[in-house]
Amino acid sequence: MPLHLPHKLKTYQKNHTIPYTEFFSKNPKTDKNQIPTYPHHMLPSDLSGVINVCPGAGNCKRTCLHFAGNPAYMRGKNAKRLRQTIAFAADNNLYLETLFLAICRAIYKHQGETIAFRLNATSDIMWENLTFNLSPDVADFAQYKFGIKVNAGKHNNILEVFLDHNVVFYDYTKLKRNWQKCRDLNYHLTVSFDGHDNIRNHKIVADGIKNGVNVAAAFNIKKSEPLPEFINLCGYRLPVLDGDISDSRFDDVAGCVIGLRFKQPRGTIYSKEDIANFCVI
Ligand code: SF4
Repeated sequence: MPLHLPHKLKTYQKNHTIPYTEFFSKNPKTDKNQIPTYPHHMLPSDLSGVINVCPGAGNCKRTCLHFAGNPAYMRGKNAKRLRQTIAFAADNNLYLETLFLAICRAIYKHQGETIAFRLNATSDIMWENLTFNLSPDVADFAQYKFGIKVNAGKHNNILEVFLDHNVVFYDYTKLKRNWQKCRDLNYHLTVSFDGHDNIRNHKIVADGIKNGVNVAAAFNIKKSEPLPEFINLCGYRLPVLDGDISDSRFDDVAGCVIGLRFKQPRGTIYSKEDIANFCVI
């Protein structure tokens, strides 16, 4: 059994400064969850200049949550997200092998507990469609180091690898997904509203609602203000749940709008109009 990280993966992680041991980040929103939650961040939309990791982004591009938070941490946050995005663009397979080890490490750390992963904390990648090849030496390393046995070879996606483990995957999305396929993969999705003028997004939201998927929408109200009880959205009248209490979207009852109070972005240029375009009210 190998004691060390296989050479190829070690070189890749070193070259991009993305050790699997520091792959996930801290996030105040996911920290509110009842169960330990690991968010994975990239540099959103096309900000990296090498790849667009949010093909469905419209109005949200300017007001993305990536720009919210403490400005003191912005530089380090940006740099790590950029490195991860470039590494992903450089080699999808090695990136997924790195992600695989990061997930194994988290599971090992929380034996006997249920844990959650939010892989698109600031991206919108269809993880369910990304096949990858797990090399025998990485599979052996995971078994030796974390006691997790996964067959080497081709896998349809990273999610199916962990179907027998005590984990939840969840994300918000602005893309039309195969909702049932994701459910079957233990991947909980909430579709995101992108504003009244994004008609393409309305179709995706309506498709999600029709398929029992909740909709997240931003409300331009103060932190102290209550959300409305109901709202009309994309042809449906739905009850509103307060999505700021925690990020545990996988615990929400179905058939709801998840209301999120708009958070002021920093270090980016946006207008009052941008906010009005993006928010539901
Ligand atoms: S899709 Fe999500 S992560 Fe991407 S720019 Fe929009 S809000 Fe940000």
